[in-house]
Amino acid sequence: MTSIMCDERSLKQQLRSTSISSDDPAIPIVPPIVHTSSYRVRSIKHFQQLVKEGGYAYIRLRSPTCEAVEKAVNELEGGAGCVLFGSGMAAISAALLTFLQPGDHLIAGSPLYGCTFELMTKHLTLHNGVEVTFVDGSNPEAYKAAIRHNTKLIYGETPSNPTLAVLDMEAFAKVAQQAAHPIITMVDATFASPYLLKPIQHGVDIVIHSATKYLGGHDDLCAGVVTTRTKEHYQAVLASRKVYGGILSPHDASLLLRGIRTLQVRMERQCDTALHLSLFLNTHPAVAVVHYPGLPSHPQHDVAAAQMDKFGAMVAFEVKGGMDAAINVVNSLRVFQLALSLGGVDSLVEHPATMTHGPLFMSEQERHEAHIEDGLIRLSVGLEDIHELVSDLQQALDRITGSVRRMS
Ligand SMILES: *Cc1c(COP(=O)(O)O)cnc(C)c1O
Repeated sequence: MTSIMCDERSLKQQLRSTSISSDDPAIPIVPPIVHTSSYRVRSIKHFQQLVKEGGYAYIRLRSPTCEAVEKAVNELEGGAGCVLFGSGMAAISAALLTFLQPGDHLIAGSPLYGCTFELMTKHLTLHNGVEVTFVDGSNPEAYKAAIRHNTKLIYGETPSNPTLAVLDMEAFAKVAQQAAHPIITMVDATFASPYLLKPIQHGVDIVIHSATKYLGGHDDLCAGVVTTRTKEHYQAVLASRKVYGGILSPHDASLLLRGIRTLQVRMERQCDTALHLSLFLNTHPAVAVVHYPGLPSHPQHDVAAAQMDKFGAMVAFEVKGGMDAAINVVNSLRVFQLALSLGGVDSLVEHPATMTHGPLFMSEQERHEAHIEDGLIRLSVGLEDIHELVSDLQQALDRITGSVRRMS
């Protein structure tokens, strides 16, 4: 686990505005929130020196509290640098716009997070002149087969939202490495968290997380991170943030830092509970199929076992009886709260066909093409008592068991 400490230089800067000196016999354990938007410069000469050496001048360019988060995430990922944003979508859009120009071709895995899909199909395509091809997101060969002379970037999500398909990071990175021209690999690994999966260690160029989810972990903030394998890509994304302007507020950065401190223990416990719940769901007569990378029946179980430390805390399953049965189940759950989002200490449930992948984000045809079935239910497993979670699922599923039996 990474340590979240003030580094010497930023600490000195931060303490200058307080009555504490870095020469004092004790310094704060938690990096202070520095919420100044601007920095008073001693002279033009000092400002010129600051520009050359990259000091703090204005909040949107660099902020010590945000840098404390960036340092922590970068250490977790083993990257060359991390750039913090005000949301996962700010991170994704800035990262894509950094590298894609009109005429470029983008290959993206399907299914995708709903807003990422919308960003690609509407905005990148219509406003930015980027061609997009969607392929089976868990099949590296499909990405390879879709490469054209103008393919600039390939984009994957693992495990995928909401079906929990797993993409082989090493094979994915190789697709780009073996291409005839340079191609950037980008992965949204939000569902895994940087505790379980470190795509950069497998050769992926750029990894993105919605820090709103596991990194924050408490359903109380919105943030995103982009971490890169090379210094060049880091500088490019940092330069984009300067002009697109999507930096996080220092107050939320401090909250995010507090979340990251417990990432390891939260993930360990939430993953263990998720595995237990998926085994339970697998035995229930109202359940048609369970999608959890930790089950040997999962199509990419071996890939998941090889590249992830544990199998994650997201579980998806399909109930028999389709749309009506699924809606009945999610409406009946009490401990699992019906809500968008995921990755926090509270267990949440949602129905992708009507919520995250419903009409707000995609057409019915697009949803079916992404194999998001009517009866699919997505769980984000939190920190509640495991027995409470099992009995909640049991009571909700038992309600539809009778009607499932009558139908079959
Ligand atoms: C939530 C999420 C996003 C978007 O993040 P925000 O912080 O809500 O902007 C992107 N990708 C995945 C996989 C997500 O779950």
